[in-house]
Amino acid sequence: MKVALYPGSFDPITNGHLDIIERASKIFDRLIVAILVNAQKQTLFTVEERMGMIREVARPWDYVEVDHFEGLLVDYARRRGVHTIVRGLRAVTDFEYELQMALTNRQLDPEFESVFLMTSKDNVYLSATLVRQVAQFGGDVGPFVPPCVARRLKEKFQTLPEK
Ligand code: ADP
Repeated sequence: MKVALYPGSFDPITNGHLDIIERASKIFDRLIVAILVNAQKQTLFTVEERMGMIREVARPWDYVEVDHFEGLLVDYARRRGVHTIVRGLRAVTDFEYELQMALTNRQLDPEFESVFLMTSKDNVYLSATLVRQVAQFGGDVGPFVPPCVARRLKEKFQTLPEK
């Protein structure tokens, strides 16, 4: 059974992430979507909210598992007995950071392998940051995220105090 991890912030999950999850299904039998919890980084959604949204949108795919972790990715991967991660590549701007991360992870654990999947052209400029900004100012995020995520974004910005 071929298993891979798909780590990220997923704050929130977007159509770009879904694109990678779908592509990974053609290569792997099981995909663990793992939310990196960084206590120093402020996020819009809590880890429970992010996990809930991923579970909801990934419900049709039983090869997807949702989890979260703190600390080093290689340590989490070892604990889970998985040695492969999947990452999505958008424009060339992703490349430098991803190369740095992949080489560092390989240095920390020589068994560790990173697999990069190219996104589809519709999602090349899509990021969770962009989605949060559009939602914050009341723009239509419909083209960028699944409907249940669009709903949560709307609710979130209605309940957040004005800055
Ligand atoms: P971001 O906040 O940049 O959207 P995450 O930390 O949640 O990203 O990203 C997790 C992984 O998903 C990374 O490998 C990232 O490159 C990938 N990813 C994010 N958005 C897209 C997209 N639009 N198309 C393909 N991959 C993406």
